Amino acid sequence: MIRRSPVLALWWHAVSVEGANVSDEGVMARLGSMTAGCDLHLHSDASDGSVAAAQLATDLGHVHMAVLTDHDTLAGSEAFAQALDSELSPPDGVELSLRWSGGTFHLLVYGYSLASTELALRIDELAMARRNRNLELLERANQAGLEITEAEVLAAAGTTDFLAKSVGRPHFAKVLVDRGYVSSIQDAFDTYLAKGRPLYSPKTLFGLEEIGPLCADLGLVAVIAHPLSLGVPLASLPDTLAKFQRQGLAGVECYYAGYSHQQRVELAQLASGLKLLITGGSDYHGSFKPGLAALSGFGDLSVAADIGDRLIERLHDR
Ligand code: AMP
Ligand code: FE
Ligand code: FE
Ligand code: ZN
Repeated sequence: MIRRSPVLALWWHAVSVEGANVSDEGVMARLGSMTAGCDLHLHSDASDGSVAAAQLATDLGHVHMAVLTDHDTLAGSEAFAQALDSELSPPDGVELSLRWSGGTFHLLVYGYSLASTELALRIDELAMARRNRNLELLERANQAGLEITEAEVLAAAGTTDFLAKSVGRPHFAKVLVDRGYVSSIQDAFDTYLAKGRPLYSPKTLFGLEEIGPLCADLGLVAVIAHPLSLGVPLASLPDTLAKFQRQGLAGVECYYAGYSHQQRVELAQLASGLKLLITGGSDYHGSFKPGLAALSGFGDLSVAADIGDRLIERLHDR
């Protein structure tokens, strides 16, 4: 189920609209007339979500704005935008895994006609690296005695070719569950697939120093996804983000479904202090992330219309 219950939705708009500063009467006045929220981080079955892009857009119902941000592919973008009932036209979106030691660095890139930019060439290279990584992952699994086949992984992703779709670790996880090696997708990550676990092999090609300036030059908006996954202590995060900003980072995903209210607020204060754009989203993956809904996350997420407005303003300013 994607849609929030109407009762829950009303309750959240009444008590806590993420991104609104309660002392700002202008913002509250605008929120007063607002009925629909945003979700700027969604996955379809063009990558490791379980729902097709057009169906996902339809399931969302009426929104202020929503953006599809599949891993290393824009394949679902057009179908999603066409099926979406939104107050603002969505830009294209994509989520890229960047080189980073320690934790995980995911970059959300937003912009119109992204597929016709120079960044699209880099995205193609990333897709090729993903395919090679997937073949290596399969080999490692087999060497470890896990009898999973290429055909099974491709079937889990709903494709017949590692390059036709953005196949990812969640598809391997599903096969491991179906084969009975693990009890759940999360168990598959914890036991085998997460960074540092036996089957993990990296696929990153670029660092922010390459992608950030390119995005800035092209008028795209680069936002760090789920920034706490970097593994940087909160005390060092301001310096890290300031450095990223010098490399072209434009925003921070503060209102992330996986974060507590306190973490979201702290991240928003940090981003605001650095004059970085504040964004938010669920990271919805359908059945590949059970319990996580679009728009409302784990039930406590609500990304204000303003957040979407500011992203669009930023895209138009560039
Ligand atoms: P990939 O793009 O193939 O490297 O897979 C990355 C995707 O795997 C992420 O977007 C999540 O959907 C999922 N993922 C990564 N790490 C974890 C984890 N520790 N637990 C659950 N899912 C994860
Ligand atoms: Fe994913
Ligand atoms: Fe991510
Ligand atoms: Zn994501």
